[in-house]
Amino acid sequence: MSRPYISVEIDRNVRSMAKNRCGYCLSHQKLVMAHLEIEHIIPVSKGGSSEESNLWLACSICNSHKADKIEAIDPVTNEVVALFNPRTQVWADCFPSSNTQHIQLREQIQDHLSNYRY
Ligand SMILES: [Zn+2]
Repeated sequence: MSRPYISVEIDRNVRSMAKNRCGYCLSHQKLVMAHLEIEHIIPVSKGGSSEESNLWLACSICNSHKADKIEAIDPVTNEVVALFNPRTQVWADCFPSSNTQHIQLREQIQDHLSNYRY
């Protein structure tokens, strides 16, 4: 299956909305060796479209790990749950047990580092 065409304009819009961060691990483009990928939140193989509303940024590690999955087993409840949607959900709301201060600090550090030119 060939990769769906995504226009330069949509690519630019998605990168802007995602603030040049992976939607899953929050790594900033300037701190990732490879170009962040435009990923389909609902994979094409599961009926997802290439409309902007179904696209987000992901690093290659997160994107390949997610692959065509749309749900997973919650290790705490053992129930099948939908995967995190970086376009419609907020990380801290979905993962309240994660250290929100740590995430905020990491974002601040990455924002600071992203201002440097390498
Ligand atoms: Zn990532």
